[in-house]
Amino acid sequence: MLSKVVDALFGCLHTNYSFPITTKPVRNNKGVPAKPRTYVVCLQCGKDLPYDWAQMKIVAEQKNAA
Ligand SMILES: [Zn+2]
Repeated sequence: MLSKVVDALFGCLHTNYSFPITTKPVRNNKGVPAKPRTYVVCLQCGKDLPYDWAQMKIVAEQKNAA
């Protein structure tokens, strides 16, 4: 119960994550390549979180302008 409230407010607070995964730039139906995305997946709740290789840490959720 409390953990669900914490998750809703702050996202995942677990510490067990997969190795960072970077998606390939996939083209959408207009032929425009989507931005590749790097993320880690929580091994405890399955939530995926944006990861920054340069900072080598999980970063805040990015808002997509598109
Ligand atoms: Zn988690």
